[in-house]
Amino acid sequence: MERQQRGRHWRRWLRALRDTWFPPVCAHCRSLVDPVRRHHLCEPCARRLHRVAGPHCTTCGYPFFGDTATDRVCEHCFELEPEFREGRTAVVLRGPARTLVIDLKYHGATHLLEEIGLIAREAEGFLDYLRGATLVPVPLHPRKLRERGYNQSRLLAGIFARVAGSGTRLAEPLRRVVDTPTQTRLDRRTRQENLKGAFEVRRGRRLDPAERFVLIDDVFTTGATLNTCAVALRRAGARVIDVATFGHG
Ligand SMILES: [Zn+2]
Ligand SMILES: [Zn+2]
Repeated sequence: MERQQRGRHWRRWLRALRDTWFPPVCAHCRSLVDPVRRHHLCEPCARRLHRVAGPHCTTCGYPFFGDTATDRVCEHCFELEPEFREGRTAVVLRGPARTLVIDLKYHGATHLLEEIGLIAREAEGFLDYLRGATLVPVPLHPRKLRERGYNQSRLLAGIFARVAGSGTRLAEPLRRVVDTPTQTRLDRRTRQENLKGAFEVRRGRRLDPAERFVLIDDVFTTGATLNTCAVALRRAGARVIDVATFGHG
C-alpha cells in the first residue's frame, strides 16, 4: 500500500514537471489545456462533448434527441438482431470525441486514454453499467495488431476496468481468425456476411454461464462486429453478454 502511494506521488510529481516544460495542448483544437482540470482537451472542447445520458437506445446506447421515445430500438438498430442483451456508449462521436478516437486508433495517441477514462467517468451511468463485469475487447487480427502495435479496444477495456474498479476485470478469451477487409463502406448485410466465423474463443476455453461479459469496442457502427463476437462468446458457454463502446454515431 505504501509502495502504491509512493508510486502515485511520483507520478503526480513527474506529471507536474512534464506540464511545466511541455504544457499540454488540446487534442482537438491545439489550444492550451488546464492540466488541473483535464488531460488532453481544453475546456471549450470538453464542453462540446456530447456525453450520453438517458433516454437512449437500450441496444446501442445512442441518445434519443429531444423526444421521450421509450422504444427499445433506435434508427441505427432498426434492422439489427442483437445477439447481446443491451448496450451503452459514452459519447456521440462528433467533434472532439471523433478526434480522440481517430488519434487513438490511427495515430498511435495512446496517451489520450487518460482523457477517455475521464470522459467515461463523466458519462452518466456508464461506469455503473460496466462495474463488476468481465470486459472483453473486440480483438484485432494478428496481422493488424503487428501493423498497429496495439489493439485500441483492448486499451479502452483496460482503462474502463481501471476507472470502474470494484472487481471489474479485463479478459481476452476471443481471437480474430479471419482478416476481413475494412468494412467502413459496406452495408450491414455485407458486413455481417463478411464477419461470419471471424472470431472464436481460444481453444479449450469454457466461459462461466453465471459471469456477466461486456464486449468493448471503440465505436458502434452497425453492431455487426459486436454481434459476431457475442455469438462466439455464447458458443463457449457465456450466457450474459452486453456491449459497450466509447463512441457512437
Ligand atoms: Zn480544444
Ligand atoms: Zn440503437
